[in-house]
Amino acid sequence: MSGKTRSPTSMTAPLRDAQTVCQSCGACCATSRDWPRFTLEDDAALARIPEKFVDPSGARIACTGERCNALTGTVGTATSCLIYNVRPDVCRACEPGDEACTIARQTFGMPVIV
Ligand code: SF4
Ligand code: SF4
Repeated sequence: MSGKTRSPTSMTAPLRDAQTVCQSCGACCATSRDWPRFTLEDDAALARIPEKFVDPSGARIACTGERCNALTGTVGTATSCLIYNVRPDVCRACEPGDEACTIARQTFGMPVIV
């Protein structure tokens, strides 16, 4: 044993169950206020999002700092999305192990998923 501590950003973790890993993470929902933006949603999809979660700009979900207001819980421990069924398309597209996921997890010092 070398005694050296590995940098968290160099650590990796195998993906076993996407839903489970996301429920104990939430990093992508708390890394950038520009993340939960609206892209290709149609008017019907946007109308289903509770108004209190929509940013005054109308361009994304409201955030506090860099964290989405729809995220509950503690990042890296247990989290959930209060508007999961009507979340923006970018949130649906993000998958464990993809580029956005990797950046978000590194931001929080969590092992990246491979
Ligand atoms: S950062 Fe990755 S693992 Fe974490 S919630 Fe987002 S997609 Fe899931
Ligand atoms: S809307 Fe839900 S899935 Fe999207 S960033 Fe916010 S908490 Fe995460």
